Amino acid sequence: MTAQNEGTRAPGAPRLGNATGLSCRECGKTTGLGPYYACDDCFGPLEVSYDFPRLTREAIEAGPRSIWRYAPLLPVPHDIASRPTTEPGYTKLIRADGLAAELGMRRLWIKDDSGNPTHSFKDRVVAVALAAATELGFKVLACPSTGNLANAVAAAAAQAGIRSVVMVPANLEEQKIIATAVYGGMLVTVDGTYDDVNRLASELAGEHEDWAFVNVNVRPYYAEGSKTLGFEIAEQLGWRLPGQIVVPIASGAQLVKIDKGFTELAALGLVEETPWRVFGAQATGCAPVAEAFAKGWDVVRPVKPSTIAKSLAIGNPADGPYVLDVVRRTGGVVADVSDDEVLDSIKLLARTQGIFGETAGGVTLGVLRKLLAAGQLDPDAETVIINSGDGLKTLDAIEPAVTVPTAIKPSLEAFQAAFEGVAV
Ligand SMILES: *Cc1c(COP(=O)(O)O)cnc(C)c1O
Ligand SMILES: [Zn+2]
Repeated sequence: MTAQNEGTRAPGAPRLGNATGLSCRECGKTTGLGPYYACDDCFGPLEVSYDFPRLTREAIEAGPRSIWRYAPLLPVPHDIASRPTTEPGYTKLIRADGLAAELGMRRLWIKDDSGNPTHSFKDRVVAVALAAATELGFKVLACPSTGNLANAVAAAAAQAGIRSVVMVPANLEEQKIIATAVYGGMLVTVDGTYDDVNRLASELAGEHEDWAFVNVNVRPYYAEGSKTLGFEIAEQLGWRLPGQIVVPIASGAQLVKIDKGFTELAALGLVEETPWRVFGAQATGCAPVAEAFAKGWDVVRPVKPSTIAKSLAIGNPADGPYVLDVVRRTGGVVADVSDDEVLDSIKLLARTQGIFGETAGGVTLGVLRKLLAAGQLDPDAETVIINSGDGLKTLDAIEPAVTVPTAIKPSLEAFQAAFEGVAV
């Protein structure tokens, strides 16, 4: 691997590895690397562009067992692996034969991102955002969050020894609030929806120039972190792309960037460019992208969320239109499932695979089942689904759907009486 533009960059320019600039996703206008997120001309969202080095599978395989094995493909300094971070990524890709048998599928895999440091996929995007934000001169790490992002930001800031300010809707799962408060840092609970919290964050970002709101003013860098899910899936499949992938949608960035990750690997010759179809999953109580897909719209009409899948409850998803582009281009579908179907799928995943996913995992598996039943997903094609978070963080949601037995006396008779009432 060669150090690319770091040797020739302009004096004072940020050192962000092989990233060369930012370009507008709407009009294509380019700017230099910096703390920018919206286009000067059309206010469209900005995206990182690169001058990639020649890369080999062997060089990547020799790298750290974390997202930093793909550092040359991310907007982070070349020496990132030697800097303190929470080391997310390299989570398990589990061959789900038990679940596949139940669903009548041939080859099904679960990318289990509950194995990250704070038990959700958000550690990936936060690690990349923090690395870029530090290089761009920000001093405080901040975010509006539906829960998991708050966990990840508070932990990453604690690890890096910097201040954090995280803001969440007050009605969040208690587990997520406690699991954020434990890291110290400033936690703000807001009476309002995520979209209200997000608006407040945008106002604050304008007032505090050295606060990096990971998913607002450093969003172009943050979003790139999700590419690592695509990179890992391909590498863990033995440097192949899956035929179908089902991805949960909150803002939609994860879905869009997994597709970008596959595209980059193919362009770099690291995998063969076999066709893949991307499917998006939402909960019916917050399904603005599924609605737009079904109605053939190019834009997403905002909704007011009401679902137990709180980690996905973004009523006005920033990447909604780009999700529609990816799904339509690859021949996928965006669909939604009810809260009851989410709970049923959480239990199915636990029963068949021994994996306790959070509500987002239930949404994703629920949509897989729905699309299989509708004949919109091929049961014979190799398929990956994402479990993006840990069920221990959404206990409130699953509690009504499981039976917790009453205590028995510590005697054989009492055990026998209880045992007779249970089918084992
Ligand atoms: C945030 C989140 C997502 C989706 O993220 P986006 O990139 O905003 O679409 C999926 N699953 C879980 C558990 C999350 O916390
Ligand atoms: Zn533009």
